[in-house]
Amino acid sequence: MRIIVYGADGYIGWPMALHLAAQGHDVLAIDNGARRRWDAEGGTRPLNEIASFTERVETWNALGKGAPIRIAEGDICDYDFVLETMRAHDPEALVHFGEQRSAPYSMISRDHAVRTQVNNIVGNLNILFAMREVNPEIHLVKLGSMGEYGTPNIDIEEGYLTITHNGRSDTLPYPKLPHSFYHLSKVADSYNIHFTTRVWNFRATDLNQGVVYGVATDETVLDPRLATRFDYDSVWGTALNRFVIQGSLGYPITVYGRGGQTRGYLDIRDTMACITLALEHPAAPGEFRVFNQFTEQFTLNELAETVAGVLGRRGLEPTIVHLDNPRIEKEEHYYNARHSALLDLGLQPHYLADTLIDSLVDFVQANAANVDPELLETPTVTWREGANEVWYRHA
Ligand code: NAD
Repeated sequence: MRIIVYGADGYIGWPMALHLAAQGHDVLAIDNGARRRWDAEGGTRPLNEIASFTERVETWNALGKGAPIRIAEGDICDYDFVLETMRAHDPEALVHFGEQRSAPYSMISRDHAVRTQVNNIVGNLNILFAMREVNPEIHLVKLGSMGEYGTPNIDIEEGYLTITHNGRSDTLPYPKLPHSFYHLSKVADSYNIHFTTRVWNFRATDLNQGVVYGVATDETVLDPRLATRFDYDSVWGTALNRFVIQGSLGYPITVYGRGGQTRGYLDIRDTMACITLALEHPAAPGEFRVFNQFTEQFTLNELAETVAGVLGRRGLEPTIVHLDNPRIEKEEHYYNARHSALLDLGLQPHYLADTLIDSLVDFVQANAANVDPELLETPTVTWREGANEVWYRHA
């Protein structure tokens, strides 16, 4: 297949571009380096050294495995760029990761909320309009988020809910109660994409993804220059990754609030598998297909205790501390989200196991020198006040 991967220099986009190229697909990798600039802006950096976007692609192409990756550096918010690259590559499918994806980043200030929503919503609209001009048959696979649903007190379905109201029934998009201005941008994307499936007969898959953990895929381990980023600070680091880094390096594992916050999680290798399955089984014309893309759900306390248990067996003495929650969210709540569609397509999950956490601990310890302890320990953005002095000091 000819495929465009948007956001191909990111944590997931880069391993995905590699994974598809390894299977022989003709991949055009697009990114504008925004994420590296957002890191520079806030004084954050991944735990590990990562090669530049071009060096990564050159390294892969020199290895001679699978198909070579093509590269185009540009902004998805630039419509001419999106149109020209789509015309030139003539894709059968698009995988769209290219967004500002940090909830705390979107809560730093008015400017950051606006930048997040403009970047994400305009970029997504540009892709939709380019699809209409170039080829309405293209299958769009878009990364959404489980955070779009929030934490309702009823079961979360995969995208749709059948409602009976005043004696009449309909199946409608599942109600959304997002957690942040970032998640709100994803909800807007979902509605815009759904609209285009109805009016332009597009085929689209919206992957409401859980929190991704892990760093190693079959391809990223082939050469150090193929490694993907592994973030640890409170703006970019996701829960399990951050807990492993804190505990492995002898810092307290910081749980926000009471720790009953429950979310869906998945191994980065399963992200690769889910997206590949979605590409191999495209949505039908006119179909807005929604998959909840995660394999297990945990509370923050369960995650922290699991990590602490593995570290304890390695002779470390991790501590778990509860911080005042910088976010505004329910800390104890019902959570039961359906996630059977990808399993029905054949997904064979990697469940969170001690061995995975062990391998992450080894990875973290090998890269320990890069850690800025203040960014590891202190939440720098609160939902009520925006960024605090620690964020501005590093900016
Ligand atoms: P990331 O920040 O590491 O990667 C996103 C990439 O998109 C970056 O390289 C960035 O430079 C690029 N980008 C952003 N705006 C762009 C633009 N206007 N033009 C071109 N490139 C642009 O994020 P990630 O963790 O790899 O997440 C990828 C996708 O998956 C995101 O859409 C995110 O919302 C979604 N997601 C991620 C997680 C997770 O746990 N990481 C969970 C749920 C959903």
